[in-house]
Amino acid sequence: MPAALRAWRRGTRGIKQVLLDQTLVSGIGNIYADEAMWRARVHPERPARATSVATASALLEATQAVMRDALAQGGTSLDALYVNVNGQSGYFARGLEAYGRGGEPCGRCGNLLSRATIGGRASHWCGRCQRRYSPRRAAVR
Ligand SMILES: [Zn+2]
Repeated sequence: MPAALRAWRRGTRGIKQVLLDQTLVSGIGNIYADEAMWRARVHPERPARATSVATASALLEATQAVMRDALAQGGTSLDALYVNVNGQSGYFARGLEAYGRGGEPCGRCGNLLSRATIGGRASHWCGRCQRRYSPRRAAVR
């Protein structure tokens, strides 16, 4: 297992907090994290230590895809760009699937998106696409 994955699985934190930990993965902002977790269908409070290599890889790939899309739309920093458009329908804000969309329908399944503060950061996710981790369901898999 790569060192980065071992570091991810250390401790008892939720995966979003690990993702935002600049010492492990640099340059991932709060918006990137919410968007990547929505794309990879990972619940923000999934315990990092219960994250499979496949899930962690999918999440890293989703994070890179979110960054590529942001760059393709002319942003060098997704967070800065979002602040610039100030919540209005700026060009990048229109591309967001999860961040800032609490209470709005999920673009994939139509379920209303959830919003909560996790680890001091605003977090947005779909409760249907991004299931809360359950050891029992993991054992069945
Ligand atoms: Zn959904």
